[in-house]
Order: sequence, then structure tokens, then C-alpha cells
Amino acid sequence: MTAPTFPDLVPDLAAKLPELRGRLTANAPLADITWFRVGGPAQVLFQPADEADLAYALAHLPAALPVTVIGLGSNLIVRDGGVPGLVIRLGKGFSDISVDGTRITAGAGVPDVKVARTAADAGLAGLAFLRGIPGAVGGALRMNGGAYGGETKDALVSARAVDRAGRIHVLTLADMGFTYRHSAVPEDFIFTRATFQGTPGDAAAIQAEMDRITSSREATQPIKSRTGGSTFKNPDGHKAWQLVDAAGCRGLVMGRAQVSEMHTNFLLNLGGATAAEIEGLGEEVRRRVRETSGVTLEWEIKRIGLPAA
Ligand SMILES: Cc1cc2nc3c(=O)[nH]c(=O)nc-3n(C[C@H](O)[C@H](O)[C@H](O)COP(=O)(O)OP(=O)(O)OC[C@H]3O[C@@H](n4cnc5c(N)ncnc54)[C@H](O)[C@@H]3O)c2cc1C
Repeated sequence: MTAPTFPDLVPDLAAKLPELRGRLTANAPLADITWFRVGGPAQVLFQPADEADLAYALAHLPAALPVTVIGLGSNLIVRDGGVPGLVIRLGKGFSDISVDGTRITAGAGVPDVKVARTAADAGLAGLAFLRGIPGAVGGALRMNGGAYGGETKDALVSARAVDRAGRIHVLTLADMGFTYRHSAVPEDFIFTRATFQGTPGDAAAIQAEMDRITSSREATQPIKSRTGGSTFKNPDGHKAWQLVDAAGCRGLVMGRAQVSEMHTNFLLNLGGATAAEIEGLGEEVRRRVRETSGVTLEWEIKRIGLPAA
């Protein structure tokens, strides 16, 4: 498939935002920076230099320009037609991490695994669950990421975010409005950092828990594949994977996309799949589950952008 091309907005944006320090790239491919390895480009990819640069950009961008933020792309299908407007990815300027007593503060671009390792090295318990989540801190805040009995809401003290008008907000745990794989914080808020609470623990025991999580993931999830993690949320009183299995979808193939044999709530790009094939397979699974069990599965994976023209 030929990659779609959007009109180049970079010269106009650069003129409108003379003090911008971050990088703007026109028609930047997104497939390379998502786990599924599918989808079209960002009309403009913006990598802000730091929080102040992000706030400056958001305050001065044309109000009508759509803005989308992505993290490490581990819970994301980028559609084949690409993402119009500005796609923001927090990189280097958001990669700081520090320990202060029993608290850890990390930029939104820090991988969750690094937060877990930093906590373990500092002898802090309560954050090992982040070892099991292959995203970054911003995604964990948006998704209330959780694994192995722990969730972001159990460990968060506070977070910072910038809204679409460029205003900076400091959010308490209560402000986050966390429910299962969801935060009620307005959609336009871009998280920039988070502070987590650990509890003093035994370094060897914490490391043992991390090792347990690592081997359990390797045994139960296709973590070396092109995938997007859990496709559907667990409906009340059900496990999504069991409903998918009961609907006969284990191993189901559409084009170059497949329902994982290993874990039926994971979809796979077998190599060369389009986003439409992966999303279409997900919709077919939802249809079959509805037919066999009466339950309508809700997507956990976020889908962004436009279908191919
Ligand atoms: C193999 C595998 C295993 C997984 N296992 C788990 C698991 O056990 N538990 C679990 O919870 N998840 C799991 N996931 C899903 C995924 O890792 C999490 O949802 C993660 O929190 C997403 O983070 P990300 O940085 O990759 O975000 P992305 O996938 O890039 O984005 C996800 C959402 O977060 C938003 N977002 C990202 N950054 C920001 C920000 N700075 N501010 C505001 N919004 C933002 C995006 O707009 C999007 O809506 C798994 C995924 C894979 C591939």
C-alpha cells in the first residue's frame, strides 16, 4: 500500500510559533513507532523539547488544528489513512526520573518498566506491576494501566498535564477519576509527569516479584509479536479472552491479521497486515462474541486516524 501524503503544514506552523524549540516533521510515518507496525503517517509529528515548549505550542496552534498524543504505541491502532493534524510524542524532554524518599517522579515519556526497575533498585515495593506494561507513564495515566494485581490508581500521588489551550494543571489522584482502564480527565489533557508512592520493602523480594512477572508474561502473552496488548476490556462478570475463545475465534485469521493462539484477547499482525485488516478482525470477533454470548465487547485498544482513502 502506498503511504498517503497530507499537505505539509510545517512551514506555516513554524512561522506561527517562532519560539518553538521542539521538532516538527511533516508526514512522519507512525507505523515504525507503534507495536502493531501498521498505519499511515502523522500529518505533522511534534516532539516537544519540554513541558514549557509543549504548553507554548498548544497555546499558539490554530484552534481548529486537531491534536493527538501518543506514547509508546503499545495500545494503539493507527489507521491506514494516517492521522490529520498534529501528533505529539513525548520523548527526551520527558524522560527524567528521580527518587525522593518513598516517592518516584517520572516524566510522561519514561517507560513503565523503568519506573518499576527504579523502584526495585531503591528498595520500594508497590510498583512492580509496572514491569508488566510495555507503555510509558503518559499511557499508564490515560489507561489506568494495570497488571498482576496492581493498577496505576493504587500507586499514583499526583500528575501534571497541559490542556489544549496550553494551561498547566496539577492533578491529585482524586482528580484523575480512575476506573478500569480509564481516566476521566478531559481528553485534551496531555500528561507530562507523574509522582508515584512506593513503600519500603525487601529488595530481594521485590526483584523476585519482578522476575515472576517477567516469566509469567513470557509464558502467557505474545510479547515478541506485533500486537497491541489486550484488545477488549473485560466486561463486568466476564473475561474477554474466555468470551472470544467460546465464540470460536482462537487463531481466527483475516488477511494478515490473526487472533493470537496463545492469548485470545490479543490480535497479531502476522507481517504485512493493514490497520484495516486488524481492526476488521477485531470487529468480526465482537460480532461473533455478541452472537454467541449476547455480550458486546468494548475496545480497550485505542484506534486513531482515518481509514485509507
Ligand atoms: C504485549 C503487550 C502487553 C500488554 N499488557 C498490558 C497489561 O498487562 N496491562 C495494561 O494495562 N496494559 C497492557 N498493555 C497495553 C499498553 O501497554 C498500556 O495500555 C499502556 O499504558 C499504553 O501506554 P503507551 O505509552 O504505549 O500508550 P499508547 O498506546 O501510545 O497510547 C494509549 C492511549 O494513551 C494516550 N496517551 C499516551 N500518552 C499520553 C500522554 N502523555 N498524555 C495523555 N494521553 C496519553 C493516547 O492518546 C492513547 O489514547 C499491553 C500491551 C502490549 C503490546
